[in-house]
Amino acid sequence: MSKMDNLRAMREAKYAAAQKQAAGAKPAATRAPVAPPVAAPKQAAEPAADATEADTDELCGHRNMSGRTCTRERGHAAKSHRYS
Ligand SMILES: [Zn+2]
Repeated sequence: MSKMDNLRAMREAKYAAAQKQAAGAKPAATRAPVAPPVAAPKQAAEPAADATEADTDELCGHRNMSGRTCTRERGHAAKSHRYS
């Protein structure tokens, strides 16, 4: 085997390998694994609901004309504020 033959054989092998890689890489790229949607938002919503309930300790803080602050819970459903 001459040096030239050896070189050509190597080059051909490299070419074949590159062709194989290109052919194999294309479908893999287009067929990217689709990650299933994570149900994280649903899980995060529950602690948030609990937090709003725990917020009842916090006061509305609305001030009336005489400078008193509303003692109702923050975001109270009642339309009127309570200053007692
Ligand atoms: Zn209030």
